Amino acid sequence: MNIHEYQAKELLSKFGIGIPTGYPANNVEEAVEGAKKLPGPLYVVKAQIHAGGRGKGKFSELPADAKGGVRLAKSVDAVKSDAQDMLGNTLVTIQTGDDGKQVNRLYVTDGVDIAEEYYLSMVVDRETSRIAMIVSTEGGMDIEDVAHNTPDKIETITIDPATGFMPHHGRAVAFALKLEGALAKAAQKLSKQLYEAFTTLDCEMLEINPLVETKDGELLVLDTKMSFDSNALYRHPDVEAMRDETEEDPMEVEASKHDLAYIKLDGNIGCMVNGAGLAMATMDIIKLNGAFPANFLDVGGGANREKVTAAFKIILSDPAVEGILVNIFGGIMKCDIIADGIVSAAKEVNLSVPLVVRLEGTNVQQGKDILANSGLPIISADDLGDAARKIVAQVKEAA
Ligand code: GDP
Ligand code: MG
Repeated sequence: MNIHEYQAKELLSKFGIGIPTGYPANNVEEAVEGAKKLPGPLYVVKAQIHAGGRGKGKFSELPADAKGGVRLAKSVDAVKSDAQDMLGNTLVTIQTGDDGKQVNRLYVTDGVDIAEEYYLSMVVDRETSRIAMIVSTEGGMDIEDVAHNTPDKIETITIDPATGFMPHHGRAVAFALKLEGALAKAAQKLSKQLYEAFTTLDCEMLEINPLVETKDGELLVLDTKMSFDSNALYRHPDVEAMRDETEEDPMEVEASKHDLAYIKLDGNIGCMVNGAGLAMATMDIIKLNGAFPANFLDVGGGANREKVTAAFKIILSDPAVEGILVNIFGGIMKCDIIADGIVSAAKEVNLSVPLVVRLEGTNVQQGKDILANSGLPIISADDLGDAARKIVAQVKEAA
């Protein structure tokens, strides 16, 4: 789960991490109120969307030479006109895709005099099974280019979970950032606090870009992105409350309401499967037969008819879907229940694409009978290979 910059900064400040003062705003009046509470004379007006690259982003509704989604303002009046410019408009950045994201909220912050911009992020590195800190002296808006053109300017420091964060990790971070004296000490302290925040909050990713050295010799988090391990959210109701569903894929939001694991993909064959392993095998075998899955969808072990119906509707609400493959192994979940769900959902949504169903396991014959007697053009398959060949052939035929 992702959160907004202003929320991430609020969380980080609880760990003692330095951030510029700022106020979130839902409308122009709140942006002006926020600015009035700040000392000035420099303010920053920042679009709050779940995507980076805002500074270099473009608003679809504004002229091409208009400023982007992070603007320096030199007066409260300038904050006001920037807020009027941004709110309600669509910001397209390198991370939003061509459709962009509507800006519904701003963050008005105290403008900082920047001496240097650095980069520091943390991720769970699956290769080493450790938390990795990734640091670079080349922070700012072009970190993607740095990674691409001069990868040697990016250093990775991994932290053994058995020891946790040690002073030498902090020194390695400071060294990689080429900091000395008080700034090196500040970087050591900051990296320790970040590690603590990351582990305490069960983060998946924490990125600070830029981390800035101010002209007064302070280290401040100027921009941050945080995402969290969804499986651990139950331990953090305060973080869960920060969820902004308007920023998420509507189908994925709907799926999570029904406790379905759904991820939208680029292909045209919708999949409904029980069990993540079987779901991945199903996607593989679709590809093996020359087509691409439209989604990953695991209905889980204990699905009931409502859940199957919801899953069906979610798959079909994707306009790219030209055929559906249902692959269910009835262990805990019985094949007749699945068949019931498929039939009722197919009737409810007026199924207009070919549907291949492969059932195996408990009550398989009852399940197959329900499908056969449904009066719907459902194609039954005997095994995984057969199912994949049949759906791919159907979709190709229809095309
Ligand atoms: P992003 O484009 O979405 O990554 O948004 P950032 O918050 O990183 O802002 C983009 C850029 O705006 C930063 O890299 C800075 O160069 C600049 N910027 C942001 N806040 C300030 C500030 O307080 N003072 C100054 N001088 N520049 C800022
Ligand atoms: Mg940034």
